[in-house]
Amino acid sequence: MLRSVYRCLRTNPVAGQRSMSQSSLAGKIAIVTASTDGIGLAAAQALGKRGAHVVVSSRRQANVDQAVALLQSQSIQVTGTTCNVGKEEDREKLVQLTLDQCGGIDILVSNAAVNPFFGNIMDTSEEVWDKIMAVNVKSAFLMTKLVVPHMAQRGGGNVVFVSSVAGYQPMPGLGAYSVSKTALLGLTRALAPELAQENIRVNCVAPGVIKTRFSSSLWKNEDIMDGFKQNMSIKRVGEPEEIGGVIAFLCTDEASYITGETVTATGGIGCRL
Ligand code: NAP
Repeated sequence: MLRSVYRCLRTNPVAGQRSMSQSSLAGKIAIVTASTDGIGLAAAQALGKRGAHVVVSSRRQANVDQAVALLQSQSIQVTGTTCNVGKEEDREKLVQLTLDQCGGIDILVSNAAVNPFFGNIMDTSEEVWDKIMAVNVKSAFLMTKLVVPHMAQRGGGNVVFVSSVAGYQPMPGLGAYSVSKTALLGLTRALAPELAQENIRVNCVAPGVIKTRFSSSLWKNEDIMDGFKQNMSIKRVGEPEEIGGVIAFLCTDEASYITGETVTATGGIGCRL
């Protein structure tokens, strides 16, 4: 099999060039929100390694500086700024800075999420509910609205939302957060047909339990992880890079016929609405 692929590439160099360029993001400009740690940082790395200029951001300047230094040390083209995605002025600043410093926008990875409350969904206060929906859902939509005209100007682009396995099966104690992640599955499907007219693909990734600070209360607790592992085929916690690569793939031309989809990356946890 490998030998015949090799022969094909030798006798048909165009095939080789084509597959190289399809996976390349050279010349593309990518905004990744909440990208100074965890899955967002891994997505920035994966996009950057494929040649994209990445714009990283999060709330704290010190975290931005650290992420920029790390990506630069890996020879990735990077720009950094603070942005709390829950704030309109910050979202606008992020987009404007990208346009000013990079000259356009091709990719948006909307990755930011918060979960300020653990407990029964019925005990969720209105204030907490609003905060979760504002950061996890509304900002994803409003960021998309901000970038779409600029993507359209460049002939198309890609939007990727970061949902969760909890969007399919609400996790105990994480009711409102889970609902916000289900909303992203719907947002993906609602936007895809409309934005296809602008040659913009809209997809989503739903990670399982990934080893980051955000989920440390899950993967540091052996009892909880034993429960998860019963439903996993691959019986370990995922690494951020195992999500970053999926996000980057969805933004390449290798995924040119995929839109309106959510890719689950859960180690085999079943996902069904
Ligand atoms: P993480 O490692 O804790 O990183 C969170 C990042 O978000 C940090 O860079 C943080 O930096 C930034 N951030 C937090 N609030 C922000 C805000 N309001 N605006 C902008 N940036 C903000 O988290 P993660 O696990 O990678 O989570 C990333 C995404 O994956 C989330 O959407 C989460 O729901 C999803 N997810 C995670 C898992 C998992 O198991 N880890 C599973 C499924 C889905 P600052 O503190 O500087 O703002």
